[in-house]
Amino acid sequence: MIPIEKCARCCALPQKVTLDYQRHDVRPKEADALTPLLRETDQISSEEWTIASILRCEACGTIYESFVSKDEGHSFMDPTCDTEKIWRLSPHLALECLATSRSKEAEAARADLSARVSGVVGNLATMLREERAPNWQIQKYAIEVEMDAALLAGDRERVIALLRHPDPVVRVDSAFDLLHMALEERYWAARSFTKALADAARQIVTSEDGLAVLAGVLAGMFGMPVRTSFEYSDDAWRERTTHRRAARALAIVAGTGFALDASLLDALVAQFAIDAGYWSDAGWALGEYVKGGPDRAASVLARLERLPDAIRKADAIASFEKRVRSQ
Ligand SMILES: [Zn+2]
Repeated sequence: MIPIEKCARCCALPQKVTLDYQRHDVRPKEADALTPLLRETDQISSEEWTIASILRCEACGTIYESFVSKDEGHSFMDPTCDTEKIWRLSPHLALECLATSRSKEAEAARADLSARVSGVVGNLATMLREERAPNWQIQKYAIEVEMDAALLAGDRERVIALLRHPDPVVRVDSAFDLLHMALEERYWAARSFTKALADAARQIVTSEDGLAVLAGVLAGMFGMPVRTSFEYSDDAWRERTTHRRAARALAIVAGTGFALDASLLDALVAQFAIDAGYWSDAGWALGEYVKGGPDRAASVLARLERLPDAIRKADAIASFEKRVRSQ
């Protein structure tokens, strides 16, 4: 088997894609070339069914999951649906999926992957460390694989190394990956995970020092040059900036009840001054924070008062300030 970065098929396939065949989306030809290992149909009614499949790339051994949802509508006015989601699975998740089947193909694939798993994880970890992922989709895959391996090994330092990676895009992606599993899709649906992963992620995110590392990494993002980063939301990849994503992740951290320290508050309020385009995410973060009590509201207001007048009077910021005062 060749490594994933040398596999033209897997490098062309996105980490996750949602296809809407009613919208005439075209299934990537690389997905057609994957080998089905498992296929499970769930017939909900004569008009409605789903098909869950596990697929493998025969060149590099990477495993994918596909979920097809079909609804032809019971009557003329019924809404119909014809969608497919395809996403790459980390080796750990792939092994879990393959373990549920007794089919010969699935068992052989599971034995093959079990024998190669440490090599696959090691290769992706090296790729991340040496910053040579062929594209951002493979980089996201490498982050998920390394995060899974670090969490399941109970290796906190390895998780922190991901959060402190020299590349700010890797840092913000890792922060989202960790928060996503810890908070179990409360905020967005980005990837698959197991209960063991969620428990391990939650242990880090609910510990004071773990949360402090996370918050520090995110706040530090504002002092770095802006980079482009991609976020999966509403079934598509959206282009965002690292600053905007850091503000969003901080909002989620603040929503956990974590006490943001003074430098973090300064960083968030400063986002208003740098670019009013960030107000909704920075405002969300600060809004979550001030729910913690009047002391928090007062410290945010004191900082807003120090903003230059022209910025403070902007509609979005003025209405945010009004809302905090009325709390
Ligand atoms: Zn491949």
